[in-house]
Formats: sequence, structure tokens, C-alpha cells
Amino acid sequence: MVVRGAKMLATLAPVTDEVIIYSFPGFAPGDEKYALAFAIPIETPGLRIICREPMQDGKRSFFDHPLASRFEEMDALLVFDDVVVPWDRVFLYNNVEAANKLYPMTGAGQQPAHQSGVRGLVKLEFATQVAMKVADTIGVDAYLNVQEQLAEIAQSLESIRALLKVAEYEHTMTEHGEAMPAYVPLETIRGLLPKMYPRAIEVIQIVGAGGLLMSPTGADFESDELRGSIDNYYVGREGISSLERVSIFKLAWDLCGEAFGQRLLQYERYYTGDPIRKRGIFYNNYKRQTPLTMVDEALKGAQLDNKEALTN
Ligand SMILES: Cc1cc2nc3c(=O)[nH]c(=O)nc-3n(C[C@H](O)[C@H](O)[C@H](O)COP(=O)(O)OP(=O)(O)OC[C@H]3O[C@@H](n4cnc5c(N)ncnc54)[C@H](O)[C@@H]3O)c2cc1C
Repeated sequence: MVVRGAKMLATLAPVTDEVIIYSFPGFAPGDEKYALAFAIPIETPGLRIICREPMQDGKRSFFDHPLASRFEEMDALLVFDDVVVPWDRVFLYNNVEAANKLYPMTGAGQQPAHQSGVRGLVKLEFATQVAMKVADTIGVDAYLNVQEQLAEIAQSLESIRALLKVAEYEHTMTEHGEAMPAYVPLETIRGLLPKMYPRAIEVIQIVGAGGLLMSPTGADFESDELRGSIDNYYVGREGISSLERVSIFKLAWDLCGEAFGQRLLQYERYYTGDPIRKRGIFYNNYKRQTPLTMVDEALKGAQLDNKEALTN
């Protein structure tokens, strides 16, 4: 099979071994030439990786950028320039019906959704802990408005944790003996996380406030001339040294302000496709599978007091 075209957006493509290509369902007759699924080694001739500009140069210090200096994830566009795919690597070929059944019949929706739900849970948990640590470091979690915002993101986190457990608890076994996590809780995570994660990042920005933008560098700490002032004016609440406070605020800034953190946020919004259209698909499926019997039940037996009006 020969493939020509492009595929957005490939996270970590430059360091992967293999790439698998498949699409969301929704193919119509006439879409045959797009109804494909296949996997190939990343170094297959004709497959090009066009990377975005790197955000990190590999030289930034761990102290100043504890996350950004270590965890850059490159994004790229894959271009297929008449790539020859051997037939034994082709799963679907010009088959609209099979392409539309890929998600419902193979678990291509649920299994990756479970993996990304676990990943999202860990990321939201980390963001929540960073927000709580920032607030504690400067003692502002004594204020009710700060407590309310921290509780909001902690409850978001616990909702995702609960949904994952429900997805696992309500799993079914396929005829091939594969445990399939439940669809509705996983899709609910996919709908909620693109709003919850940006909110957690916003809470870090609000609670950290101006302090996020005034951290001295590691080199400043090593300057005899500056160290005394830094130790005087950058302390946190009682018991928190300037070094501890600045370290925590640098971690928080990497997550909520740096290009690195903004890329993580953009990833949470879009990694699984457009969240608006995903929610639209979910609603249409949900409507199809949810008879609105409670409404019918609530209206059962209702009649006008004036029975004659019924005949008018
Ligand atoms: C950091 C990052 C990493 C990613 N990693 C991967 C990956 O590893 N693998 C992978 O396959 N994909 C990945 N994605 C790509 C992701 O699948 C796409 O970003 C997503 O499908 C949205 O497409 P788009 O970015 O082209 O947005 P567009 O389709 O251009 O949409 C732009 C805006 O317009 C709105 N819009 C567009 N069309 C409609 C419509 N018909 N109805 C209503 N609203 C509409 C959208 O809501 C959105 O706000 C990644 C994305 C990001 C940001």
C-alpha cells in the first residue's frame, strides 16, 4: 500500500520506534481512500517528521527549571511522501465499514482512554499538590477564598480518581478474554479533564500571584553580594527558608507559566481530539442509549383539572 498525506500531531515522534495510524469513526461512502489503519517503523523511507522549534536548549539548570530542563516532549507533523507500507503492516485498507467499526469493536477507544485517564489523573494530582504547596509555603491557605479554590481542584482530582475506578469496576470481558474498561466513565473523564486541568493551572497562577515572577536565579543564591538580601526578603511563612520558597515557586512557574507548562496545558485540551466535537459525539451516543423514562414517569397521569379542556 502507498500512503501520501500528513498527520497531526505526533507527540514524541522523533524518539519513537513505531507509529500507528488510525482515525476516529465517521467515514461515509466515498471516503474509501482515507479509511486506513496501519503501523510502520518511524524510519520507513518517505516518512518525514517536521518538528516544532524546541522550547529547551538542554543547557538550562535543574534549579531554575526543575521540570522544563528535563521533560521537554517534542511535537511534530508526520508527512507521508509516497510511503510504501508492507501488506503485513496494514490493518484496514479502503474499507469504510471496517473503519467505522474499529472503535466500537476493538476497544481502540476504551483502552487508550484508560491509559490517558491514568496519565491525566497523575498530572492533575501533581498540579493540585503544587497549588497546595505554593499556598502552604506562603501561608495563604489560611484564607477562605484560597481554601475554596484549592478544595475545588482537589474535588476535581477525586472525581477523576472515582471515575477511573468505576471504569475498571464496570469492565466487561470480551470473547477474546480481554478486560474492557467501561465507556461512559472514561468518556466522562475525556470531557472533564480538558476543563479541570487548565483550571488547576489557573489556581496555581492565582495563588502564586506575583511571587511566581520574581524568583532570583540559582546564580543569585551563590552571589555573596545578593545572598543576604535574598535570605531576608524571599522567606515564606514561618519555618520556610528563602531557598525552599524559591525552589517551590520555580517548580510552580515551570508548570503554570513557562512555555513547557503551556504546552502541557494545550496537550490536555487537545491530545484526544477537539473536546467540543468529542462532547458532541458523547451527547449523541448518550441520547441514543438513554430513554428519558423518568420524565415520562413524572408526567404519567397528569391531566387538566378542567377535563373538558382536553377535548378542545
Ligand atoms: C500538544 C498536543 C499534542 C498532541 N498529540 C497528539 C498525538 O500524539 N497524536 C494525535 O493523533 N494527535 C495529537 N494531538 C492532535 C489533536 O488530535 C488535535 O490537536 C485535535 O484533533 C484538534 O485538531 P486541531 O488542533 O487541528 O484543531 P482545529 O480542528 O483546527 O480546531 C480549532 C478550533 O476550532 C474549533 N472547531 C474546528 N472545527 C469545528 C467544528 N466542525 N465544529 C465545532 N468547532 C470546531 C475547535 O473546537 C477548536 O477550538 C495533539 C495536540 C496537541 C495540542
